[in-house]
Amino acid sequence: MSGIRTDRTTPGAVIVVGSGPTGLLLAGDLAAAGVPVTVLERRPHAISNLSRAFGVHARTLEQLDARGLADDLLATGTTITALRLFRRLTLDLGTLPSRFPHLLVTPQYEVERLLERRARDLGVDFRHEHEVTGLRQDTTGVDLDVRTPDGTAATLRAAYVVGTDGHRSAVRRALGLPFPGTSVITSLFLADVRLAEPPEGVLTVDGRGGTFAMIAAFGDGWYRVMGWDRRHEVPDDVPLGLEEVREVTRRALGTDHGMHDARWLSRFHSDERQVPQYRVGRVFLAGDAAHVHSPAGGQGMNTGLQDAANLSWKLAAAVRGRAPEGLLDSYHAERHPVGRAVLRSSGGLVRLARAQHPGLCLVRAGVSAVARAARPVRTKALAQVSGIGYRYPAPRGSHPLTGARVPDAALRGGGRLYEALRDGRFVLVAPVANERAASGDESVGVRREQWADGGRTTVLVRPDGYAAWAADDAGPAAVEAALKAHLG
Ligand SMILES: Cc1cc2nc3c(=O)[nH]c(=O)nc-3n(C[C@H](O)[C@H](O)[C@H](O)COP(=O)(O)OP(=O)(O)OC[C@H]3O[C@@H](n4cnc5c(N)ncnc54)[C@H](O)[C@@H]3O)c2cc1C
Repeated sequence: MSGIRTDRTTPGAVIVVGSGPTGLLLAGDLAAAGVPVTVLERRPHAISNLSRAFGVHARTLEQLDARGLADDLLATGTTITALRLFRRLTLDLGTLPSRFPHLLVTPQYEVERLLERRARDLGVDFRHEHEVTGLRQDTTGVDLDVRTPDGTAATLRAAYVVGTDGHRSAVRRALGLPFPGTSVITSLFLADVRLAEPPEGVLTVDGRGGTFAMIAAFGDGWYRVMGWDRRHEVPDDVPLGLEEVREVTRRALGTDHGMHDARWLSRFHSDERQVPQYRVGRVFLAGDAAHVHSPAGGQGMNTGLQDAANLSWKLAAAVRGRAPEGLLDSYHAERHPVGRAVLRSSGGLVRLARAQHPGLCLVRAGVSAVARAARPVRTKALAQVSGIGYRYPAPRGSHPLTGARVPDAALRGGGRLYEALRDGRFVLVAPVANERAASGDESVGVRREQWADGGRTTVLVRPDGYAAWAADDAGPAAVEAALKAHLG
């Protein structure tokens, strides 16, 4: 067709559509694995200074640690070790069995800055002002229709495409997939402000009289306020003034903490939606393109980053022709249930806050008593919110560790597991006594290590820090069979 340029890009390349946090992590991982990767982004090049997400949970920090980025990100924000909710309930993040027993409060743009710098350093080809408008796929690749900066249409081809293009995903629409779900809250507001009399903790959450408000400290003098007023549910485009934010906060928290100088005011509605399929042939969906939830649980960005960490090494293996049967399908099988669980849990806090039903009001009033009485429930909730509690399905009869997150641990000869994961390969960690497993061939794409302590379990850790296989007292034949099954 005249006026359409065709650019075949590099054969075997992956195109990532959208340079939000999900796309940036994925593109960086692919480039680190030596896969040619192009990112198409509709916006001109500039990281938005709108903070959007502000909480980075423990499992996300562990994933960033496995890329050598966690310490840099920690330096940009403030950590919270206890969450105080509804004046009564305190959730103790300090008990999390993680190297990062806290929530990091930092604006989303700090996460994006770090991930973009890494992706650029690794050679990712960024093309800004490139908007994807459609796609077609065949057995060897995907053709993407793209509007380029000069307004002309072009077709780009890649072996695989990942749509990380947010909740209105053009990739999802081009695949003809529905995005079923509902609106949880039709009208929430967000504001980034300064406070003359800041609250004591880093995070304050409360609700009363048909209102709900949350204040979080970024640690640099700015505070994020999120709120809702039952009596004033309006469309997103109705202008929002600081006076409205102050008034709702006063009603919800008893004080507006001397709020002034808003640098950002925004109204939005909150949906809970999930696409039924994360993979269609050679095209994948990740992050907000695949699922959106209430912002109250602070899960949106975190879940997208975990999607990217799950998919990147699988896609890299497929591009190299080394993906075992079913590996690419395991992305949907593992991440769709997590997305569904997040969808269910993240709306809970807001539902509780806005509860009118007498039963729910009672739960809110007695929330601390409920939590005290049910410590295992609280521990489970903490594990879920922080992301460290999720595990993936394991084959019947496999070792209980298979599919589980492998916590960081010291390795014999110095260093930690999450440092060993930084070269993007599988890591086989054997007990000190199992010298043969630890000293075998590394050319198949595995790094071999030993636990520093006296652990008896040999674990094959996937590049995303989950156990692909584990066995107690494993002999050399069992170890080699596991490597063959997972690495080809
Ligand atoms: C107002 C607001 C407040 C939020 N608050 C929180 C919070 O407190 N906590 C939390 O965890 N999450 C929050 N979120 C959600 C969080 O910001 C998202 O979950 C996160 O940004 C998802 O990242 P992503 O990379 O999947 O998508 P996005 O960040 O949406 O990135 C998608 C990218 O794709 C690009 N794009 C879109 N269409 C195309 C196209 N056709 N072609 C090329 N490029 C395209 C976009 O320009 C964008 O850069 C909030 C979101 C909003 C809007």
